[in-house]
Amino acid sequence: MPEGPSVRTFQMLTSPFVGQVVAKVGGSSRKISVNDLNALRLQDSQVHGKNLYLAFVAAEGPSGPTAEETVLPKEAAPVQGGQEQVCAPHPHPQDEELQELQHSRSEGPGKWLRFHFGLFGSVRANEFSRANRANRRGDWKDPVPRLILHFESGGFLTFYNCRMHWCSSPVADPASDILSMEFHRGRALDALCGPNPICYTLLDQRYFSGLGNIIKNEILYLAKIHPLTQGSLLAPSDLERLLDCALQFSSDWLHHKLRGQGLHPQIYQREQCPLGHPVMKGTFGPLGGFKRLTWWCPQCQPEVLPGDGDPSPVTE
Ligand SMILES: [Zn+2]
Repeated sequence: MPEGPSVRTFQMLTSPFVGQVVAKVGGSSRKISVNDLNALRLQDSQVHGKNLYLAFVAAEGPSGPTAEETVLPKEAAPVQGGQEQVCAPHPHPQDEELQELQHSRSEGPGKWLRFHFGLFGSVRANEFSRANRANRRGDWKDPVPRLILHFESGGFLTFYNCRMHWCSSPVADPASDILSMEFHRGRALDALCGPNPICYTLLDQRYFSGLGNIIKNEILYLAKIHPLTQGSLLAPSDLERLLDCALQFSSDWLHHKLRGQGLHPQIYQREQCPLGHPVMKGTFGPLGGFKRLTWWCPQCQPEVLPGDGDPSPVTE
């Protein structure tokens, strides 16, 4: 699935549309009722980790929707004061789960649509994705967008292979976001030095929001650390170096993307490491958790076993 740097570029594609009113909607999503977005104004666009959030509000003025156009779902609470509700603070901040279930536009400001992207998920501005190969049936069928937003300006956004749901506010923790200026190194180091395989900790979005499988594989290679090494067996200087690699790699990847350059992985999906050693592949993940394909070079990333590097017991 797209990692932090990719979702940042998606967010940048959406930001020129902030302030514009949705003139027409389309898309195959059944998770949300796409027509609910009609005539709403895109108010904000944010990225947090691997998620994109778009805020929508009722558009004011002559081009805005009328109350009659709004069909409230049966479970939605009655709205007091019609569209004035739009400017009122939400009266029940504790009912977050209920708010997420409500699809009506009566929630007012801070009505956010969260996008979580699948493996081939993407956002495009003013273009559709085209098939670049035949599918299993041999058809050259273009991918179907989950959502298309046409704006009053004539421009449009298309969203592919993503899950969408409404929420009351973005789940934001800049201290854990690898691309945020507010990323908290100390908290990340505390997580890394735990007794778990380092490749599990790196994918834990609570500490490394935006870090995905490609970044994981590449930075473990750069830092010369075997993916299954327990963090507690690594020297603090190794963990610092791994963290430097994570932040530098993610930021470089984003800048490459912004220049339209692709990524040339050193180990991810490779058969040889850059030094010509054969690469190993395995599926690793916590017990009962999500398992991810992992590539490593046994020569450049030697395994560290418990006992390695421990100070010798003092003997007479
Ligand atoms: Zn190697």
